[in-house]
Amino acid sequence: STLFDSVELAPRDPILGLNEQYNADTRPGKVNLGVGVYYDDNGRIPLLAAVRKAETARIEAAAARGYLPIEGIPGYNKGAQALLLGADSPLAAAGRVLTVQALGGTGALKIGADFLRQLLPGAKAYISDPSWENHRALFERAGFTVENYAYYDAATRGLNFDGMLAALQAMPAQSVVVLHACCHNPTGVDPTPEQWKQIAAVVKERGLVPFLDIAYQGFGAGLQEDAEVVRLFAGMDITMLVSSSFSKSFSLYGERVGALTVIAGNKDEATRVLSQLKRVIRTNYSNPPTHGGTVVSSVLNSPELFALWEEELAGMRDRIRLMRAQLVEKIKAAGATQDFSFVLKQRGMFSYSGLNAAQVDRLREEHGVYAVGSGRICVAALNSGNIDKVAKAIAAVL
Ligand code: PMP
Repeated sequence: STLFDSVELAPRDPILGLNEQYNADTRPGKVNLGVGVYYDDNGRIPLLAAVRKAETARIEAAAARGYLPIEGIPGYNKGAQALLLGADSPLAAAGRVLTVQALGGTGALKIGADFLRQLLPGAKAYISDPSWENHRALFERAGFTVENYAYYDAATRGLNFDGMLAALQAMPAQSVVVLHACCHNPTGVDPTPEQWKQIAAVVKERGLVPFLDIAYQGFGAGLQEDAEVVRLFAGMDITMLVSSSFSKSFSLYGERVGALTVIAGNKDEATRVLSQLKRVIRTNYSNPPTHGGTVVSSVLNSPELFALWEEELAGMRDRIRLMRAQLVEKIKAAGATQDFSFVLKQRGMFSYSGLNAAQVDRLREEHGVYAVGSGRICVAALNSGNIDKVAKAIAAVL
């Protein structure tokens, strides 16, 4: 037998599999709503003007490409941290917060998961039901047993808040709880500010370890507004981890720009935690790449570019809202009796449409409209050229 004889074929990623199917589809007018990417009204991934300016300056500077520090670019980390906690965080001033550059939000989750697994070998990790499809796999590969906590209520198309609170209350102390800080993926359903206060209180009282995942900051209500949950936990003096991603907010998916931020109990703890995170990074990929981090850092640290970025981000957010409103209207206009106004309450790039697997199959087969089997659609992939077709197709499969 040969060396790799016993290697099993791993299951393929369901969403990437859907993309392959979409690419192979030769029908004109096909629409891919299975993706997790923001497209502009022309159906293209935008290159933000703020990014282009920062890139041009970087290329003109013709800087050498030495290694970055293990924890990444200091200005990047500082900027990423300020976006989460605000520029004048007392915790940061006390030296209790540390941030490391990471390979996207995924990389931040992985560094954090590896670190926590070593620290808490007996702890389980809990993710929402449902959650981003990589959460479970990522924490399992880090060595955790992963369980779900109640989250989405299909009957109300909203949050199962009582179920969620009960699940949190039943978790053993020091359990790791992954929470979507805004724009829940895949449902688009977020707790209200009042509900978040109750969630944070239970997390604190039970001694849980919150791992806030914020991959869509700026796509909900605004850059500052979307960080409120992080600031709520921080304000309650809860020690925690936060993974943040600039993939969507900077439209820099392929540059792998993210950060892991940890709020420690005191300055000395923060120093020791940072030293351990550096060890995780060093033994995995040594240090992060330069380009994306430099570009984001330039934007975050230049008032002029920051203002431009914030405006462009608001443009993306507003366009998604417009698509939500039009989708609801157009499904109704296409003759559907079922009310889709819940789509307007959901936030971020996604909507749990409530379509079942059979309806999703019909959307694809009969109409060339691709959605995830769970019924998740990417509202950010709708545009003025495809929304009529999508609304009619949805109305037709109801
Ligand atoms: N967390 C959530 C909830 C996500 O939806 C995503 C990606 N779409 C990530 C993390 C990972 O982000 P990145 O692409 O920056 O690795």
